[in-house]
Formats: sequence, C-alpha cells, structure tokens
Amino acid sequence: MSINANDIRSRNDKKLFDLLVADPDVKKVKHVVERMEEKGPISIRRQLLATSVRLSPSMAPQVHKFKSHCVEALGVDIPIELYVYNSAQFNAACVKPEEGRLFVMFSSSLLEAFDEGEMLFIMGHELGHHLYQHHDIPIGYILRGPHRPSPKLALQLFAWSRYAEISADRAGAHCAPSFEVVGRSLFRLASGLSEQVVQFSLKEFLNQLDDMQVENTQPSQGAPKEDWFSTHPFSPLRVKALELFFDSVFVKDDGLSVDELEMSVHRLMALMEPNYLDGRTKTTETMRRLLFAGAVLIAEASGGIDDKEIERFEGFFGKGTFSDELDLNRLKQELPHRIEQTREHASVAQRMQVLHDLCLMARASGWVTAAEREVLVSISEGLNVSPSFIHTCLDRNLDLD
Ligand SMILES: [Zn+2]
Repeated sequence: MSINANDIRSRNDKKLFDLLVADPDVKKVKHVVERMEEKGPISIRRQLLATSVRLSPSMAPQVHKFKSHCVEALGVDIPIELYVYNSAQFNAACVKPEEGRLFVMFSSSLLEAFDEGEMLFIMGHELGHHLYQHHDIPIGYILRGPHRPSPKLALQLFAWSRYAEISADRAGAHCAPSFEVVGRSLFRLASGLSEQVVQFSLKEFLNQLDDMQVENTQPSQGAPKEDWFSTHPFSPLRVKALELFFDSVFVKDDGLSVDELEMSVHRLMALMEPNYLDGRTKTTETMRRLLFAGAVLIAEASGGIDDKEIERFEGFFGKGTFSDELDLNRLKQELPHRIEQTREHASVAQRMQVLHDLCLMARASGWVTAAEREVLVSISEGLNVSPSFIHTCLDRNLDLD
C-alpha cells in the first residue's frame, strides 16, 4: 500500500496531543512562549551558527543525500538546514522552524559512527517530529519554566512524549531499509556503542525485553542485568514497537491491521506505564501508597509543605487525601514498610515507574534540592534500583529526543 506520513502516526500520540494542546495550562505556557518570540525572536539559527557547524551540500554531500531521501519519502515541504555540533554522545535533534526553515542537528560522534541506513532512520525520526507538529507542545519549557505544571499534567506530558517518540520512530522506519537497521540504530543510541566495540544482535536486544516481561510476572527476581538498560528502559520497547510496525499492513500486505498494531503497541507501553494510579490489584495499591508517602516526604525534605504544595497533592491524589491530620512523622515511620512492600510485590519496571514518577513530581514542583535528591536516592536503594536511575531521571533533558 502507498502510505502517507500521517497514516503511520501513532493514534495515541494524536489523541494525547489533541488533549494537551487544548489544556488550559499548556495553552497558557504556549501563549507566554509566543509573546517572548514576538518581543524578539529567540534566534535558534543565530545560536546554531555560533555553536555548531552548518553542513553545506558541498561539505557533506552524503548527509544531504540522506536528507533528500527522507524528504521525499515523508513528503516534507520546507527548506532544511543541517548542523553538526561537537559531542561524544550519539544524539540528534530537530527544532521548531524559524522563518520558514527547519533545522536538524547531529552530534559529531553520531555522524561519524552511523552508517547510511542508520542515518536514514535518525533523519526520518527527526523529520517525523516536525511533520507531526510535536514542537507545538513546548514540553521542556512547560516542565522547566517558571509556571510549574501540576504533577498530573507533568505525567500526561510524559506519557504523550513516549507516544510521540513512537510516531517519530515510524517516520524513521519508513525511510530506513529494514527492521534490523532501525533496531541497531536504537541500540546504539541507548548504549553509546559503535560497531567496533560490540557486534550488534537484534535477537539478543529483543530478548532483553522478554526478560523485562518475565520480571513483570516474577517480580522477586533481581535487577536488570545490563546497567545501561536500567537507564534506558524505554529503548527495547521502542524496538519492539517498531517490530510490530514492520509486521503491520504499513509494511507488508498480509500484516497486522492498523487496529491490531495500535492495540499491541498500547499493551507494550503499558509495561512501562502499568497504570497503577487506577489499578485495583494489591501491587498497584502498594505502588500508589509508596508514591503518596514518597511525594509528601520529598516535598517536606525541602523545607516543609506549604498550601501550594497541598493543592498539588490534592489535584493529583484527589481532594481530601492530604488533610491537616496527615501525620508526617507516622508517614516517615511507615515509609520503609511501604518501600519493602513495593519491592516485594512490584516488578523492576514497575518500581522504576514509581521512582520515575516521584522524580517527575519533584521536578514539577521546582528546583530539586540536595535533600529531595537524597530522599529519592534512599527510596531507590530500598527498591533495589540503582541510584543512577534517579540521577538520570532528575538530570535528563525533558525535551523530545
Ligand atoms: Zn525523538
């Protein structure tokens, strides 16, 4: 079948995107950003020219060839400028167009290490973010800016950002030659390894996800084997989601229907997002209780809980959950027990989910102090999750990858 880039966009990305752009708090921040741009455009181009090298067609004919291939495959209709910046980390990005031009940038190490097929995937992925207007939701600005979002909105933004990556990955896959190649690209992005160091095996990479699923049913088992995996739990899921895409009608005639594809991807993402906020099992209740105690104690760690904080909690956990009678000392005493319960009942992925959400809530309430970080680290240690996961969650860039 002949496909148009919009056909392959993840339905959940579109659904959550539509909800978010209509959200009053998101609208407010967008308005602030627009006003700032009116006053004097925050010239991204000027900044890029000062800090990066623009790749002209004569300097980098190969990269421009990849660009043309993706532009045609995806039907992108805007002039594009390519940039490279000096960094040892494999990375690429695309920012909101300025004066009718789109900017795509790559780290120097990525340009050196990625082969043609991998580059097509990366380029297509970045153009996908533009095509699906993902930059219309200034997620990084909302989460970092002066008008802090409610924890609920922060979590919604995060859920959307995962589906946005799924859409962008499909755009990249549409430009790339094979599933093997896109799997390898994602493995490299996550591990930072080049071919000289590790012989990539798609099968083994996918096995890791099976291990993760096993962990979910046998929660008492140990932590993930690979260290880098615990900081990038999302990568194997993205590969699996892409495997489903390559098995769908978008790629082969007798493949999964679009409904089947979307349902399978949704089930997959639920691994990372077990929806413990509404779940009714013993495990989800345990996770919620830990989230609540953790959130209160983190807020308390940075100089007590004020009315604004209480409002946040009520907005998130429901009215009345935080009352004057809430006994901080009792909650403190109970925390180790709640941690122990969660360690016993929840899988590694679920424990990481609670920690991740606590980090996001801490960030959403402003600058994360050393004391707050300490509480988070001690909870992660209690849950048998490497504290490096906390630092990754707290320090990572919240913009789309
Ligand atoms: Zn991305």
